Amino acid sequence: MWLLLLLPLCWAVEVKRPRGVSLTNHHFYDESKPFTCLDGSATIPFDQVNDDYCDCKDGSDEPGTAACPNGSFHCTNAGYKPLYIPSSRVNDGICDCCDGTDEYNSGIVCESTCKEKGRKERESLQQMAEVTREGFRLKKILIEEWKKAREEKQNKLTELQAGKKSLEDEVEMLRTVKEEAEKPEKEAKELHQKMWEEQQAASKAQKEQELAADAFQELDDDMDGMVSVAELQTHPELDTDGDGALSEGEAQAFLGGDTQTNAASFYDRVWVAIRDKYRSEALPTDLPESSAPDLTEPKEERPPVLSPRTEEEEGEEEEETEEEEEEEEEDDAEEAPPPLVPPQPASPVEDDKMPPYDEQTKALIDAAQEARDKFEEAERSLKDMEESIRNLEQEISFDFGPSGEFAYLYSQCYELATNEYVYQLCPFKLVSQKPKLGGSPTNLGTWGSWAGPDHDKFSAMRYEQGTGCWQGPNRSTTVRLVCGKDTVVTSTTEPSRCEYLMELMTPAACPEPPPELPAESDHDEL
Ligand code: CA
Ligand code: CA
Repeated sequence: MWLLLLLPLCWAVEVKRPRGVSLTNHHFYDESKPFTCLDGSATIPFDQVNDDYCDCKDGSDEPGTAACPNGSFHCTNAGYKPLYIPSSRVNDGICDCCDGTDEYNSGIVCESTCKEKGRKERESLQQMAEVTREGFRLKKILIEEWKKAREEKQNKLTELQAGKKSLEDEVEMLRTVKEEAEKPEKEAKELHQKMWEEQQAASKAQKEQELAADAFQELDDDMDGMVSVAELQTHPELDTDGDGALSEGEAQAFLGGDTQTNAASFYDRVWVAIRDKYRSEALPTDLPESSAPDLTEPKEERPPVLSPRTEEEEGEEEEETEEEEEEEEEDDAEEAPPPLVPPQPASPVEDDKMPPYDEQTKALIDAAQEARDKFEEAERSLKDMEESIRNLEQEISFDFGPSGEFAYLYSQCYELATNEYVYQLCPFKLVSQKPKLGGSPTNLGTWGSWAGPDHDKFSAMRYEQGTGCWQGPNRSTTVRLVCGKDTVVTSTTEPSRCEYLMELMTPAACPEPPPELPAESDHDEL
């Protein structure tokens, strides 16, 4: 490239040679000797060179005419670049060489444009050299910046690693505090639960006893304080063999072989056996109409079913706040409007609700919760710190090129929009493609490795294992890095299916320019 710049200065001496012969080949054409074709196929008298008749198979005897179909004509193009053209273009009426030498005998006058072309060429080469120089200057800055940033990151990492130990200790300390606070909390909660369950069990047992007492009263038709076999037999629903009637034997079996039972042993032995089948005449569950005539007795039974609950609650729950009592009253009031609906279903639901914790338990729970919050917060900080450490370690140890010149690309993203897609390159991470008209992005590959040739490893990057192609491989992208002043994605193509090629311009890819040569050094090729 740099030699080309100097070429125009090298043509001061014109060497005599047959028309269409290049400077490098001129010694093959010595007019004092016979000419041997360049391919060695024949030797001919020198006057048959350029005699407009093709003698050599390779066309080398007619470098300056159109006689050989495979010949080539050399334009010197002084001021620009020398050039070979097919000899068929010699004297074809079209100016092919910028010095016009191909049209020496066609009547066409070609103006020499070599100087102008040479000037433009030099300008563009100078521009490229300028870009390289500027890019390389920026690259040196990038290298310095990464050196500094890396040092800072290293310091930060050391600091974090040192702080990690004490944060770990703090987490462990807070874990102990938390566990210590949770012990009494757990005990108090369990105690509360246990008391509640005991209370429920007691209340259930009491209800059961009341139910049994009611049943006993109901069964004891002659009110002699004993329930007899005959009295039991008035409840055919207690039938055990499925014949629809309670036989004397079956009734006696309930009484454990006795003929009658008093209230105490009724509850202990008989009630358990019959409770699930026993239907009180007081509850009009199955026979709402036919129960009407029996109203006299059941009427008395009814209130007891409800009263135990209210009595019990008033008695046991003396601590109950006024609010809660008000709520209950409200509940009752709400159920009042349909007065004929039996209110029983409401009671078991309310009984299932555990009363609120007492002040002491609440205080223990609050203390434990505070200890938990503190522990969790410290644990989160530790996790964040560990992540920062991981990220720093990863960044610091990353291969960012021979002098870290590519480090500035880390955690940046660059986009290129085409007609259909927006391509995004996040160096060292990911390449993606997103439809312009909306839709989710497609992964074109995640960072794999540097992928330039052995002597120039950092001239390309490889991104692999992107979204799979339908019935094809996973998408992948090669990113070629080219020297430029700015950092910009300049092109994206898909040279073969699911394999993408991207070009990223970056100063980090600029080579060190050759030292500027003194302007007037005489570098003649001769
Ligand atoms: Ca010839
Ligand atoms: Ca021509």
